[in-house]
Amino acid sequence: MNHYQRIITDFKRRMGYDTLDPRAALFDMDGTLYDSMPGHAGAWMKMCRDNGLEASPEDFFMAEGRTGADTIEMLFMRSYGHSATPADVERLYAMKSANFRALPPVDVMPGAPVAVKACMDAGMATVLVTGSGQTSLIERLAEDYPGAFALKVCSRDVSRGKPHPEPYLRAMEMAGVEPWQAVVVENAPLGVRSGVAAGVFTLGVVTGPMPAEVLKEAGAEIVFASMPECATAMPELLRAMAGKE
Ligand code: CA
Repeated sequence: MNHYQRIITDFKRRMGYDTLDPRAALFDMDGTLYDSMPGHAGAWMKMCRDNGLEASPEDFFMAEGRTGADTIEMLFMRSYGHSATPADVERLYAMKSANFRALPPVDVMPGAPVAVKACMDAGMATVLVTGSGQTSLIERLAEDYPGAFALKVCSRDVSRGKPHPEPYLRAMEMAGVEPWQAVVVENAPLGVRSGVAAGVFTLGVVTGPMPAEVLKEAGAEIVFASMPECATAMPELLRAMAGKE
């Protein structure tokens, strides 16, 4: 039994799944498909400085995966001790988004197109699952990941963002699959928790300052040290999940 098979067997036993049949790969966007997290953290910091909200860049790496509305709520509770109004959320998220758009275009995460293609080559549906409402990046997907993300779950499609399981449950509903037929690829602890809570075999990938242990503690079944490492492992991992080796 190879390394992956042991992990897969343990996962199935823990979850009470008789079998795994990977038919849909559910990909996070920021920090997974795009190297966009430093830009997002910078855009949030500028918005906070311009509005007198207390924040540090680490806040945005820890909050990564939350919707903009949830992040603004967190900032308001901490700075003012009360909730943000819908008008505050709209205005401040628009400022943050404008700051992000003013930055040079972010790079595609090295290795991510290979990982996505490996899933497509295995006959899987590929679904985007993001807390982002940042249309500037979502609109680039068709060009950077041709044919991959016809199905998308964005911030507006869910009432509760990551770490709640709703985004991944919604993605599986769109793809017409059950949790034992899916795999999640995530770079952030709240995103990993969302995938795990949805009952899906969840892969953590280190792509920024968040160490592997944090993704492991959040419940990732496997943590890869980089996206190229994840991409290289993907074909064998998917075969092992399908019980083909
Ligand atoms: Ca992310």
